[in-house]
Amino acid sequence: MTVTTTPKATVTRQERVVAINPTRTCAPIGAMLATYGVHGALTINHGSQGCATYPRHQITRHTREPCEVATTSLSENAAVYGGKENLLIALKNVYERFHPTMITVCTTCLSETIGDDIPAIIGEFQENFPEISIPIVDVNTPSYVGTHITGFDNFLEVLAKSLVRRGRKPNNKINIVPGWVNPGDIRELKAMMHEMEVAAIFLTDYSETLDGGFYSEKPHFPKGGTTLEEIEDSSNSMALFALQKHVGGKAASIYDRRYGVPSHVLPMPIGLENTDQFLSKVTEVTGKEVPESIEMDRARLLDAMVDAHMYVTDMKVALFGDPDILEGLVRFTAELGLRPRYVVTATDSKQWADDMMKLAEELDLDTEFMMKTDLHELHKRVKAEPVDFLIGHSKGKFIATDENIPLIRVGFPIEDRFGYHRKAIVGYRGAMYLVEEIVNAFLSQKTVVSNTIMDMRDLEGCTLTNGSGNGHGHEKMSEMVKEA
Ligand code: SF4
Repeated sequence: MTVTTTPKATVTRQERVVAINPTRTCAPIGAMLATYGVHGALTINHGSQGCATYPRHQITRHTREPCEVATTSLSENAAVYGGKENLLIALKNVYERFHPTMITVCTTCLSETIGDDIPAIIGEFQENFPEISIPIVDVNTPSYVGTHITGFDNFLEVLAKSLVRRGRKPNNKINIVPGWVNPGDIRELKAMMHEMEVAAIFLTDYSETLDGGFYSEKPHFPKGGTTLEEIEDSSNSMALFALQKHVGGKAASIYDRRYGVPSHVLPMPIGLENTDQFLSKVTEVTGKEVPESIEMDRARLLDAMVDAHMYVTDMKVALFGDPDILEGLVRFTAELGLRPRYVVTATDSKQWADDMMKLAEELDLDTEFMMKTDLHELHKRVKAEPVDFLIGHSKGKFIATDENIPLIRVGFPIEDRFGYHRKAIVGYRGAMYLVEEIVNAFLSQKTVVSNTIMDMRDLEGCTLTNGSGNGHGHEKMSEMVKEA
């Protein structure tokens, strides 16, 4: 169904009620991931065992780190009579066995459908055990409402409402809400702030907890993460920067209204212009200049983009994943001279639709922005009108294989490659990495014959000998070069 349209671009929404090859995962994963960014915190998933197993496997496959999560392990009885007893027992067990700094209780499809009153159960637990004084927060994460990013966003809303202490003792810091990004992205943002000599509180920071080192003596909880004290103190910061609208946007407005922390919700700093915008806002708020080291990264990125344009200008690309990453990638791929032809997200968001229309008008894009949809729908589009690249997470590999086009792996989850959780796509250095991935993906499909770039797919049946053209099929190649 067409939602809105400009002369060249459209936003469509999938009306089919069944998702085929969804480009989303389940909501508790988001709250779990965000909880991982709080030092010493632990999640209890209030649901059946699979509701803990599936999310932890997803995170583990992406980050190659063990991922602890407790479950209330609801069965048939609880589904009929409620899961209160299971949750009370789980809270006590988790506290006694792990002594976490904080517990996040995530609901699931099952416990939301049963209708368990989680705040009341937590209240009863705290009354029974007044000596257990750690924060216990509950986050609504039914997977039939929203996606994994909804779970993350809901956690941040709860954090802003429940874990921040009111107060006005300026701490000379800024708050950064990176959103759903890689541990490598958070490290890159931290490096940029370090270079600018800006002190920042990250809400939250799983750059070490989900990408830590190997220690002969395993720490009780992974090293790193934002401490509860830092979260409490975040009301004293001079400003807050939310780098994703759909993950952190609600928390940003709570900081603004409730704590008087001026909040800036910006497009994700992917590519040249979005990174410029982020850094100039940080400079405006803190008074700290962008240092020469970052200026040099910017210049290097520009140079790489100039070098890249001869390969990729006007090539068509299909992008899929989470809405804010897509917004950043659309602008960046357009900056690079690519044509974003299809942009696909599982999220259903009017704000995203409006923002994409503005972007399409500004950049003069002939793009179909497809929301609340799946990879099956994208595959149909790509079959009807082929593209040169796919950019998205691992679930797109089947389209890439079927259509024999490169997939540049970005987003979550990347489970069929190693180490992608360490890759940053934010900032100038992140954009440089993307330029290299895109151009190399292009070159992986090409070869040079008599100074002419040829598509490897057109050379099937030819045997190349060190690029000299002396192998079998030389005549066929010569003909193709002449045609080219
Ligand atoms: S039942 Fe719902 S919460 Fe549990 S794993 Fe499935 S989608 Fe996620």
